[in-house]
Amino acid sequence: CGIVGYAGSVHAACGRPLEVCLNGLGRLEYRGYDSTGVALAAPGMEKVEVRKKAGRLKNLLADIEKSPLPDATVGIGHTRWATNGEPTDLNAHPHQSRDGKVAIIHNGIIENASQLRLDLQTEGYTFVSATDTEVAAKLIGKAAQEIIDAEGAPDIFKATRRVARMLKGAFTILVVDSRQPDLVVGVRHDSPLVVGLGDGENFLGSDVAAFVAYTKEALELGQDQAVCISADSVIVTDFMGEPVPEPRRYTVDWD
Ligand code: GLU
Repeated sequence: CGIVGYAGSVHAACGRPLEVCLNGLGRLEYRGYDSTGVALAAPGMEKVEVRKKAGRLKNLLADIEKSPLPDATVGIGHTRWATNGEPTDLNAHPHQSRDGKVAIIHNGIIENASQLRLDLQTEGYTFVSATDTEVAAKLIGKAAQEIIDAEGAPDIFKATRRVARMLKGAFTILVVDSRQPDLVVGVRHDSPLVVGLGDGENFLGSDVAAFVAYTKEALELGQDQAVCISADSVIVTDFMGEPVPEPRRYTVDWD
């Protein structure tokens, strides 16, 4: 339902990724939702750190109070409006790869999720949720590992684009990977995604409300585009990784 992403300096893990994600989730509440969650990554983390809860945002805040999150360099946050699977803690986003190194959030519905889930189950994958989103999380984790095995280095941007080409339906998906804790990757098809341009930091959102507290400078992604943000770069391509015409840049008029 609502999506926020944040990339800050990889040299200075701090509380800001969490602060930005929670602020964004508060501003995205107007869309309506049944669950919330965040994932963070930083250099040295073996796996991504995830907290998620069914119910109001205050449930997530209480959970983080009980079980505090470490300083981070990148983060993603989600408000869920359930389409596939009941509104429960387990079905809340983010969802993780099998090895726990990748976490994703998703708006929309993946229509071929059942078939993709069956294919993964045949390969021995198990699922902890009833969501279509977890199928994409497992696939992106699998693609990320295949790329490391083949090329010797992680490339979560490439892994996410590869999986975007396999999905049918509507989706905006954001991805973080503990092996590349300087990056947040996004893809969109029939569902919106905007980039917020900061100074030494960059943002992603399902709409500008997600980051308007921090920047008014935005880029609008086109249909079937992929984006990779770091603290000081924004790269936009198509799902094949080819360059696309410069996205429209605008200043948010917010009153
Ligand atoms: N289809 C996903 C789910 O049910 C995402 C729903 C949403 O857009 O929040 O978990």
